Formats: sequence, structure tokens, C-alpha cells
Amino acid sequence: MSPILVLDVDRVVKAYPGGVTALDDVSLSVRQGELLAILGPSGSGKSTLLNIMGTLDLPSSGTVRVGGQDVTALPDRRLSALRGRWLGFVFQQFHLTDGLSATENVATGLLYAGVPRRQRRPLALEALDRVGLAHRVRHLPHQLSGGERQRVAIARALVNRPALVLADEPTGALDTANGEAVLALLTRLNQEGTTIAVITHDRDIAARMPRRVEIRDGRIVADTRNGGEQ
Ligand code: ADP
Repeated sequence: MSPILVLDVDRVVKAYPGGVTALDDVSLSVRQGELLAILGPSGSGKSTLLNIMGTLDLPSSGTVRVGGQDVTALPDRRLSALRGRWLGFVFQQFHLTDGLSATENVATGLLYAGVPRRQRRPLALEALDRVGLAHRVRHLPHQLSGGERQRVAIARALVNRPALVLADEPTGALDTANGEAVLALLTRLNQEGTTIAVITHDRDIAARMPRRVEIRDGRIVADTRNGGEQ
């Protein structure tokens, strides 16, 4: 049986006005259940690729399929619905809302998914439990450590059970110990079935992922899975 593709980027070019080609003929598929790193130095095109994988930006040419659906052909409203249902995002700077408790922050991950209000809280509590924060559910972001804040953000990304979580330098704002805990958490969540792509410039982080996609000057220069080239 062929593996289920959650994301399929095919021959994507992204050109910015002024003549910069940020992505130059990039093809990349993500299978259900994978944990992969997208590795590259600053300026290599990682953020551009992340935005395109996350349907936050459209390619100049080429196709992007999320769950088999070509997103380049969708009107905006359908695109946000698809994004809310299929994708979860984790950012370097957490992006939590200050005045909201951990539970309320996680529940915002369900706002665009059409989940009735009364179901949001129990789902948020369950997601916080999955990331080991059952004892912090009423805390506000400023009452939490950086590592805990990132775990809240991960719970928010997971709460809708997305097909793919995109994590952009998720340990970039954390000290070594908290960074380690976040990587261990992502690894465990993957072992429990979540498909995760981690965008990073850090070779050591990438080396710990079962698949590593290397990008340089807007091109994929290596795509390696443990057990050999794909
Ligand atoms: P990375 O995330 O790896 O640092 P980026 O995707 O941000 O790389 O950038 C790739 C290239 O595209 C760089 O040369 C950058 O200057 C250029 N670039 C990124 N965003 C824009 C933009 N909005 N307009 C013009 N050029 C851009």
C-alpha cells in the first residue's frame, strides 16, 4: 500500500519582486507519521518554504497539495478552513495571547475548526495533559517558563488533531534544557502518531530527526532518511 501523503509540494518556484528567487524548483512530500527537519542557513529559503507548506503564501509556479487538495486553486475562505483543519503551527516566539490562560490559549486553536464552544475546553485540557501541563491549565503566559509556554503553543497546535504540525525553530528562544524538553516532547508526539516538520538552522537538532531535508539557495540539496537516501 502506498503511504498517505499529507503534503505534496511539486516543482515550486517562489520569486519575489526585485528578482530574488527564494525557492527554485522545490519538490517535497511529507508522509503521514513522519518527523522531519528542514535544515538550512539563514537566507536559504526556509521561511518561504514554511509559508508555502503552511498555505500562508502561494508559489509563483508549481503546485502544493494538502491532504490531496491543490491549495493554489482555492479561494481564501476555503483555504483558511483547510489550514485550520489540516495544519498546526508552532513558532519560535510562542505567539501566545497574554491575557488568556493556558486553557484559553489552547482553545483558540479550535476557533476556526467549527468546534462548538462547550467542547473546546475539554479538548484544550486534554491537549495540555498530552504535553505534560495538566498542572498549569489556569496559568497566564507570564506565569509560565519559556519551555512551558512553548508546550502550551504545542498543545494549541495539536488540539485540532492536525494532519501536519509545522514547527518554526521551536527551540530557538529556549535555553538548552528547555530546548531538549521540547525536542523530546516533539519526538514523543511523533511516536504517538503526529506528523511533524521542524524548520531549523541547527545541524545538531536536524541530526536527531529521522529525516532531514537540506535547503541551500532556494534548492533542496539533500533529502535523507535514516536507513538511507529516499
Ligand atoms: P531563511 O528563512 O532560510 O532565512 P527566507 O525564506 O527568509 O530564508 O529568504 C530566502 C531569500 O528570499 C532571501 O534572499 C531573502 O532575502 C528573500 N526574501 C524573503 N522574503 C522576501 C520578501 N518578502 N521580499 C523579497 N525578498 C524576500
